[in-house]
Amino acid sequence: MTIIRPYNVKCIMCGRNSSQTVLASSNTMGYPDLDGRPAPMLGNTIGYWNQACRYCKYCASDISKAQKELKGIKEIISTSEYQSQFSNPEFPEEANIALCNSILFEKNALYLEAAQLSLQAAWICDSNEKIEAARKCRERTIMLIQRWQEKQKNAKEKKLESILMVDLYRRVGRLEEAQKLCYETLKTKSKNLKKFLKYEKKLISDKDTARHNAGEAFHEEEQS
Ligand SMILES: [Zn+2]
Repeated sequence: MTIIRPYNVKCIMCGRNSSQTVLASSNTMGYPDLDGRPAPMLGNTIGYWNQACRYCKYCASDISKAQKELKGIKEIISTSEYQSQFSNPEFPEEANIALCNSILFEKNALYLEAAQLSLQAAWICDSNEKIEAARKCRERTIMLIQRWQEKQKNAKEKKLESILMVDLYRRVGRLEEAQKLCYETLKTKSKNLKKFLKYEKKLISDKDTARHNAGEAFHEEEQS
């Protein structure tokens, strides 16, 4: 069961109090999506995974705590990029909050964390049927994972996240890139992970850019 509660939270950046909806507990039943989105109920709570201070616009998973790995937070918040993202009418409010938190990590060169937050924003857009906004969030996630991959020293590390990248390319309709990466990744992955890639291969050849879950990949294999 999902329990959400309003809490009065003191912002660590400006010291002011605001009411935040906090996820007290949730559960998940079923398979995650191919891009890792958890199954319901947890998968329906993504809008509560990040908080925003309405006064200073600090966005974090918990605005009462410092994100120690981040530097220059106030300077980043003051940039026009952050400020315009905070109230961008193209995106649902919760997606803007996740994207602002993503910008804080990106500017600190923590690209994988930034990518995960950008992907959360895509899931929120999916739930709100904001198709173009979801596409933009996925394109941003692709860009961030590529930057992270560029920073990795050895070839093996560079290939991490490639399964997620296949799904991201497919969902944004970059099917040739999805297909190429899917074939490359199929050569290297373990048997279990190949199930997902074979299912991705089928979806890509069907030009299917919709949301699918890991359970379908298992059923597909049983039938083939
Ligand atoms: Zn604040």
